[in-house]
Amino acid sequence: MRLVTFTTGDDARAGIAVGDQIIDLASSGFEDVLSFLEAGDAAVVTARDLVTSPREVFSRLDVELLAPVPTPQKFICIGLNYLDHAIESGKEVPTTPVIFTKYNNAVIGPGHPIELPSVSDQVDYEAEFAFVIGKSGKNIRAEDWEEYVFGYTIVHDVSARDWQLATSQWTIGKTFDTFGPMGPELVSKEEITDPHNLRISLELNGQVLQDSNTSQLIFNIPALVEHLSKVMTLSPGDVVSTGTPPGVGMARKPPIFMKPGDDVAITIEGIGELRNPVVQGS
Ligand code: MG
Repeated sequence: MRLVTFTTGDDARAGIAVGDQIIDLASSGFEDVLSFLEAGDAAVVTARDLVTSPREVFSRLDVELLAPVPTPQKFICIGLNYLDHAIESGKEVPTTPVIFTKYNNAVIGPGHPIELPSVSDQVDYEAEFAFVIGKSGKNIRAEDWEEYVFGYTIVHDVSARDWQLATSQWTIGKTFDTFGPMGPELVSKEEITDPHNLRISLELNGQVLQDSNTSQLIFNIPALVEHLSKVMTLSPGDVVSTGTPPGVGMARKPPIFMKPGDDVAITIEGIGELRNPVVQGS
């Protein structure tokens, strides 16, 4: 199942993407993706029935996709979680997950512009594989992770390096408005045979700048679910972005930072493509 949040010009609503069609979930009483996830297994059963006999269907061409989870209760990011990226960043390979956050002001959907803030001239790209919680849990054992994860999506962890690295705390450089593109779809875990073996790549203006595999994650999904849930109750819709592979602009010689007019696309095998234009913001 591939969940989307979309709009036809008025309010955002939830849908199931099937090929070129979007099946509206509002007709089954689900106002948004969060309420769908909170309903758990019952929602999945309803959705399966809806796919076989849909009520309201839109063409993908007639809707605008938003981030699949536009307002997660938590938008958690993991830093330095690919071995080679930790090395290229000149940091020690972490033995404990590095955690920072984005706020919902950062979330945008596919096709929406990433706005370069006037106060930064070092805005970098980071392709990331993200998982989304489907069931509430605390102190979850690593081996039970699949019970709590609904599925996967793509996150672009846009990063203003000058702000991120001005102090030891990274969040301020990571959560500028529009710095959290997400989507296009939330893909349920049943659709993906092995989330720890997916090619992940990023193209800036058609040039491949990141190309790796989720097999290179230092802390994988079970480890992160166990670690995070020792601290906080994980709730349906929480997004955990698992970190970026090597090839970021900051580490290149000379460095590459994003500029107005750029086009940036992240592709993850089996999950999809998240493409955003880059514009000058305020
Ligand atoms: Mg990152």
